[in-house]
Amino acid sequence: MIEILKILLKNNKFPQSSIFNSGNIEVPFFVIKYLFCENKEVKPCNACLSCKKVNKRVHPDLFVVDIEEGAKNIKINQIREVKNFCSMTTSGRCKAVFINNAEFMSIEAQNSILKILEEPGDNNYFLLKTKNKYKLLPTILSRCVHFNLKPVDNFFKNEEFSLKNLKKLSFFEVYDKLNELIKEVKNLEDFLKILIYSNYPDEIDFLFLLLNFESYIKYNINKDTVIGVISFWIKGGENCQIKFAI
Ligand SMILES: [Zn+2]
Repeated sequence: MIEILKILLKNNKFPQSSIFNSGNIEVPFFVIKYLFCENKEVKPCNACLSCKKVNKRVHPDLFVVDIEEGAKNIKINQIREVKNFCSMTTSGRCKAVFINNAEFMSIEAQNSILKILEEPGDNNYFLLKTKNKYKLLPTILSRCVHFNLKPVDNFFKNEEFSLKNLKKLSFFEVYDKLNELIKEVKNLEDFLKILIYSNYPDEIDFLFLLLNFESYIKYNINKDTVIGVISFWIKGGENCQIKFAI
């Protein structure tokens, strides 16, 4: 997963709104440090002033939201503070809002953050960390790119489905091959994971397409559509832009 995040960050394609489902809190903080790091060669360096400030959670361009002591949930007034933070001008390149335990946002808080995510502003990044993303409003889920931080099975590193090998086949062979795979793994989420982990080197647009599909799974998009679009991308190339009406 870290490799995927690095590719997106290096190519300036990291999504403005993202959900980190399960896994370690250090993963979203890897992203935040990368965004702010002053080192030009190795990011995040963990040695520059920005990295140190993020590690201590005192970076002026970082706003952290969590359940307050003694409270049961994240309240709407905390999200109002997010709004104020977003409207302030920044001295650096960008700002980041990190919401820990995002599934504990009250409904009012969720509706309020949704409005912010609808108009995130330039160079503001929103990272939501949750142990159960399905407790969030579907409208929030659909606004974000999802990073599911489950441990990856070796099966997911399947050479057979690497982009390099699939590209050698004809459109219909690719389509059949993907159909075979989806039957074998039985669900769309694992199917996409295999493709993500078999293909990520250098194929930034393809990776982004797959991550977007992952975000749409909850809406029961048709598996034939997914396979069709992916086959088309593999054979048709880079300029294939996909939008879904939900
Ligand atoms: Zn640094």
